Amino acid sequence: MKPLYQQLHAGSGPDGAAQFVYASHPSRVIFGAGTIGRLPEEVKRLGLSRVLVVSTPGQQHGAQKVAAAMPGRIGFIFSGATMHTPVDVTEQAMEIVRAERIDGLVAVGGGSTTGLAKAIAYRTDLPQIIGPTTYAGSEMTPILGETENGIKVTVSDPKILPEVVIYDVDLTMTLSVAISVSSGMNAIAHAVEALYSKDRNPIISMFAEYAIAALARSLPAIFNNPSDVSARTEALYGAWLCGICLGSVGMALHHKLCHALGGAFNLPHAEMHTAVLPHVVAYNETAAPEAMQAIARALGTDPVDGLFELAQGLNATMALRDFGMPEQEIDPIAELALKNAYPNPRALERDAIRELLAAAWAGKRPERASKRKDDGSGANSGNSRGS
Ligand code: NAD
Repeated sequence: MKPLYQQLHAGSGPDGAAQFVYASHPSRVIFGAGTIGRLPEEVKRLGLSRVLVVSTPGQQHGAQKVAAAMPGRIGFIFSGATMHTPVDVTEQAMEIVRAERIDGLVAVGGGSTTGLAKAIAYRTDLPQIIGPTTYAGSEMTPILGETENGIKVTVSDPKILPEVVIYDVDLTMTLSVAISVSSGMNAIAHAVEALYSKDRNPIISMFAEYAIAALARSLPAIFNNPSDVSARTEALYGAWLCGICLGSVGMALHHKLCHALGGAFNLPHAEMHTAVLPHVVAYNETAAPEAMQAIARALGTDPVDGLFELAQGLNATMALRDFGMPEQEIDPIAELALKNAYPNPRALERDAIRELLAAAWAGKRPERASKRKDDGSGANSGNSRGS
């Protein structure tokens, strides 16, 4: 019988023996309902005396509550976080950091808020405590994507990795169904690409398979009842594992395409991931059979149709045109995907990628890779990070 670690597709060494590298990122995680109440303790543990709490304008109220709970009124607030981490917003926050001699950062919000804390930490190496309120997973990665003059640049640095993450289920209870679905599908995309990553390993693959199962089960339950605490807990747990996947192994074609689309048209990040993912899985289907088996085990059904139907059943917008992507931009985006290509299990074929994008643009059910001409060879080399 095939050893379990090989079912989780360890890299092959001589004589088919498993060979892989596993590296974990050091972070302290506190999980469970009500755990944001432990923030003052964590602030004290890190020895912080002047903390900047960051949020989006919409989550300012939560930031004020958190700052007010800080011991000795040491909390300052900046509520200007926005999507894609624009450098000019980071500069505004940096003015407070300098003027108030801030010695630590707290972020309460989704990936956009976490992005701002990371951008400040990248510039200052200040310690971060993150309270995620979506399923984006950014808090588990040493990756920062910042935008300046319309260009999104991704950097990876140990200073960017948050020191403490408080996964309080209560913080996610107000998340709308639509954002729960899109950020949950965004999380699934991290786990899916980890399963066929060039530097995959059985530990991360184990997380990935479990994470996809957890989110595929909990998102429909949240869709039916957004106040379902048990489903919210499972989704947050799955999202945590997906974040570990994203932070630990390189991503592939899906993240490259989303990066190109997001940078070019400022499309909504998580929603765009949701629409593109089933098409990339179809593209890679025949070139990554073990990953497909893992996804099928996690979903309890076919990986391609399963992901498409999961998103569709959750009322996700499945057509990129509905986000405002112009049809004539399909070709340039396909070209971009081929430039500085991320490693991908199936060789990157211009025409097939164009077809993939055309189907995602129109919101069609993915065409199966097994029906296309595919030699499955020629995987690209190099390393990649996606955000
Ligand atoms: P988001 O942070 O932009 O949040 C979307 C909206 O939902 C915001 O208006 C926010 O205020 C609101 N919101 C968030 N949580 C809420 C809650 N619990 N209740 C009510 N409203 C809430 O969305 P996101 O999908 O979490 O993050 C997307 C961003 O994260 C993108 O910029 C993306 O590039 C980045 N990201 C980065 C990484 C990384 O590793 N660097 C990983 C994933 C995502």
